[in-house]
Amino acid sequence: MPNHFDNQPHFPGQATNFLKRDLGETTDKPDEERQVIIHADLDAFYASVEERDRPELVGKPVIVGGSPEKRGVVCAANYVARKYGVHSAMPAVTARRLCPQGIYLPPRIDYYAEVSRKIRDIFERFTPLVEPLSLDEAFLDVTGTEHLFGQAVEIGRQIKQAIRTELRLVASVGVAPNKFLAKIASDLKKPDALVIVEPAKVQEFLDPLPVERLWGVGKQSSKVFERLGIRTIAQLRQCPLDILRARFGSNGEHLWDLAHGRDGRAVVPEREAKSISNETTFERDISDMDVLRAWLVDLVDQVGCRLRRHGMRGRTVQLKVRFADFSLITRSCTLPEPTDITDELWRAADELLCQRLPAGHLPVRLLGMGLSGLDDTGLAQGMLFDGEDREKHERADDVADQIKERFWVGAIRRGSSLRGESPRTP
Ligand SMILES: [Mg+2]
Repeated sequence: MPNHFDNQPHFPGQATNFLKRDLGETTDKPDEERQVIIHADLDAFYASVEERDRPELVGKPVIVGGSPEKRGVVCAANYVARKYGVHSAMPAVTARRLCPQGIYLPPRIDYYAEVSRKIRDIFERFTPLVEPLSLDEAFLDVTGTEHLFGQAVEIGRQIKQAIRTELRLVASVGVAPNKFLAKIASDLKKPDALVIVEPAKVQEFLDPLPVERLWGVGKQSSKVFERLGIRTIAQLRQCPLDILRARFGSNGEHLWDLAHGRDGRAVVPEREAKSISNETTFERDISDMDVLRAWLVDLVDQVGCRLRRHGMRGRTVQLKVRFADFSLITRSCTLPEPTDITDELWRAADELLCQRLPAGHLPVRLLGMGLSGLDDTGLAQGMLFDGEDREKHERADDVADQIKERFWVGAIRRGSSLRGESPRTP
């Protein structure tokens, strides 16, 4: 794995001590225990890819998603469209009302997956420790690359630059001492942002932010915070842990840790992952089951793409649902045989969503789908597919397309540029 950073003269070794002092790295933790994490996230990914490929769209409101006529949902809106109030997960009918002059396009997930591979190649120039969260978003652990925080910032810059010049797309990047902080950072000043959280300035960075910035805090839980008089992360940090435990159960402690900037999770590269999953937190809680199923199609689709990319198959399908009151449930089922076929994953995930949620449940804040029990023997098997197997795969693809058609777009012409319609994660 080439490490392009080695070629960069910006931070020569003799500057090490100065920079360390300058960045306030004065804790007694040894360097090797300290993480340096980058979170990179493409801005308005699906819409930006469309805009890039069709120059006539530049400067116009571009909305990728299902059609207004078919109860479709917006998957991605570019920044021009957002000025009209259009956002992802919004019914396409509403989007059309807000922005009648918008250009409405069906998603092309297979193509976005191709672009996603190129983005991944750029990430992997800097570190082999890349954990994708979706097609356009990943964590990179650059701790092992260089111990110096300033060098990670330079890597962040170079990633943005490479995505811009080689792919003509724009990414926002956060550089921080852990995953949670890096994710908040990349999201804070979108689009085209580079936000740095220096190790000594974590609290300074977090304190003024509203509690809604914390992972998993939705409308309902922010109401609970409101009753407790907690609006900012600083106030949450100062709240006694017992109160949080009483209100949020085991999540209380987790929230408290986050408010202190603590997050010990490691970056797990996909090849070493015990499971592959995608999840999305909605901008607004969703109670309409058809809309949830439409989002599930996208999550399943992305997980399927990622499995096949690595020649992996898995047996246990998992569904994760966080409700408006912050409660979280997971449901799973084990398939008779390991699979990487989107349709088989979809059937299982859809059944979990439609049959296994509690009756009369609250609106949904977060939806996730994953597959575990992975093996990579599929790679060898994939190369040896006989005709019958291949036919089975192709038939399965057809079924997957039919599902997408039902939920997203009226006219899907297989083999045309309109293949692979589905929603997206924000
Ligand atoms: Mg993105």
